[in-house]
Amino acid sequence: MTDETNDEPEFTPFWEHLGRGEIAFPRCLDCGRHHWYPKALCPWCQSTRIEWTPVTGAAELYSWTVVRHAFTAEYQDKIPYTVALVEFPDAPGVRLLTNLSPDDTTWRGGMALKPTIEAADEGKRPKVVFSAA
Ligand SMILES: [Zn+2]
Repeated sequence: MTDETNDEPEFTPFWEHLGRGEIAFPRCLDCGRHHWYPKALCPWCQSTRIEWTPVTGAAELYSWTVVRHAFTAEYQDKIPYTVALVEFPDAPGVRLLTNLSPDDTTWRGGMALKPTIEAADEGKRPKVVFSAA
């Protein structure tokens, strides 16, 4: 089993929040704006005063694609699967790369989505998947 919990420490708060059943993004305490991916400095005002702020999870579909070719053997039994960018009305500017489910849904840009957070197996990260709200 691969330990995938420590290879990108800047994402640790994201996984910790997800493990508690919530989605959170970095928000600047000086200008109030969210950003993604995590950074030590606010990309908008360069403040170092950044706080991870939970969102409701209500999201909107920005874009998606269906992956039908397994680029590694690990994914052979997972195809087809749907990869998406989703936006959060309560975290403007954030677009999270994630998965959609089920694969037979007719997706539309801007459609309302809701998250399902799956607990992590040992040594793995929790997972969030979005479906039609
Ligand atoms: Zn800022």
